[in-house]
Amino acid sequence: MNPVLYILSCAIILLGLSSCTHSTLVARSSPTVLIVTAHPDDESGMAATVWKITHALKGNVDLALVTNAEGGYKYSSLGNIIYGRELTDEDTGRALLPAIRKKELMAGGDIIGIRNYFFLDQQDHRYTLNVDSTLGYVWDTSFVVKRLTEIVEAGEYDYIFCMLPTPGTHGHHKGATVMALEAVSRIAEGKRPVVLGVSVSEQGDSLDVFKGLEGYPRTTISRGLPSFQFDRTTKFGYKDRLDYKIIVNWLIAEHKSQGTMQLAMNRGDLEEFWWFDMNDREKFEETRELFRRLAETFFEELEF
Ligand SMILES: [Zn+2]
Repeated sequence: MNPVLYILSCAIILLGLSSCTHSTLVARSSPTVLIVTAHPDDESGMAATVWKITHALKGNVDLALVTNAEGGYKYSSLGNIIYGRELTDEDTGRALLPAIRKKELMAGGDIIGIRNYFFLDQQDHRYTLNVDSTLGYVWDTSFVVKRLTEIVEAGEYDYIFCMLPTPGTHGHHKGATVMALEAVSRIAEGKRPVVLGVSVSEQGDSLDVFKGLEGYPRTTISRGLPSFQFDRTTKFGYKDRLDYKIIVNWLIAEHKSQGTMQLAMNRGDLEEFWWFDMNDREKFEETRELFRRLAETFFEELEF
């Protein structure tokens, strides 16, 4: 390059950088993310994306868990043998699973690179689709929102990942997302992280009909905006034989008390991230850039 042009282009790049805010630069290079979920194992739906954020982009990812996970005793038949306790007995399961499942969560977290955990320990009472009852009388919602607000403010997160609150998903999943959105709404505009709702789908089976959970306007998904996607089937390694489902499977395997969760191995090609309408639209391109970088090749080609 002509030396004058080279100096000129460097100056333009420097000027461009100096006009960026610090937080924008941080968000672009190494994002800081908070996962807000109801149960240990809910993070499996975003595990490959989180792994790539922490390993390829050197980002920091924390996790806030809303429930104490005591309700996961029904399918612990194999867990009974692993842990040597009768976890499928309701009283025993409810007593022991909170500690067991926290360990399982953190073992999986070690694989995908979770930095820090916040346990809110609300009761995991039972399976229900009803978010109103969960928020109405099962959880201490004012505590949850207050605590999440404190965590989000202190962590200065660029993004929050939570489960997409579709009608068919567990009421606790819906509730955790409603609480996360409520917490973010209490933070001053301009300091709010982008909140993305996560779903898992197969190739060619994109969940594009969900527009928001009735009765909870903050869960509205922006119309006309595409989801961001992380493709678990992206190939890498020798002869391109490996893919990111391996990481998700490893994480699932750590949740040994959760029998039915094990059946999710190899299921789901895409981790999809949906844009809540309450987000600052100015950050959409920045978010698109994040997912573009996450799609870049990480492993070098191997030849033997
Ligand atoms: Zn769950």
